[in-house]
Amino acid sequence: MSKAELYIGMRRKMVEYLKGKFSYSPNIFDAMNAVPRHLFLEAGMEHLSYEDKPLPIAAGQTISQPSTVATQIHLSGIGKWDKVLEIGTGCGYQTAVLAQLGARVYSVERQRELYIAAQKNLSRIGLDKPLIFFGDGYRGLPQFAPFKAIIVTCGAETLPQELLLQLEIGGKMVVPIGASGEEQTLTVIERVSDKEFNRTTHGKCSFVPMLEGTNR
Ligand code: SAH
Repeated sequence: MSKAELYIGMRRKMVEYLKGKFSYSPNIFDAMNAVPRHLFLEAGMEHLSYEDKPLPIAAGQTISQPSTVATQIHLSGIGKWDKVLEIGTGCGYQTAVLAQLGARVYSVERQRELYIAAQKNLSRIGLDKPLIFFGDGYRGLPQFAPFKAIIVTCGAETLPQELLLQLEIGGKMVVPIGASGEEQTLTVIERVSDKEFNRTTHGKCSFVPMLEGTNR
């Protein structure tokens, strides 16, 4: 059996495991089944690609745990054609899953090394549609707003206010919120009208911190 075939089997098993754990839309699982997570990892880590775990990537960051990716996408309500802003591209894994779902993806990363790696990873698997930006996610991308959903993949100490205003009415932001060094609360903010926002919480989670500014 070739390595590629081996990975297909391992990926299918991981997705079956996620299906057993969560009753989310089959579209999310199909997308995860189509994205080769092993191509987003550092050399030597590939054998761990299809365990449901976060793993270290460059610049001291992590690739999100598959369960977390599925849950954030589920909570965001994003589907085909929807415009989504991701804060924290990392190596581009979740970006790829969102693109595979058919969403129109905009993603911002503050670590230049990862911004470059993510573009390479995405084009290598033929997904060059997502637009990746180098910048501070606290600022969002006002020039492309409004978004149907904003998925923040790093832990913010307080709600990123500028991002809220980049949501369309009825749109949702999924954001881990918590003090630095502590577990965060996975939070969903829905923009119900121009000035009204509705907050719900969805359990504890653990993301790398959301930092201000950029790192060249
Ligand atoms: N979505 C990624 C998760 C990467 S980890 C995945 O699929 O695995 C979170 C990322 O958020 C890190 O790469 C980190 O550099 C980035 N990050 C932290 N603060 C940020 C900010 N203010 N703006 C943009 N990216 C940020």
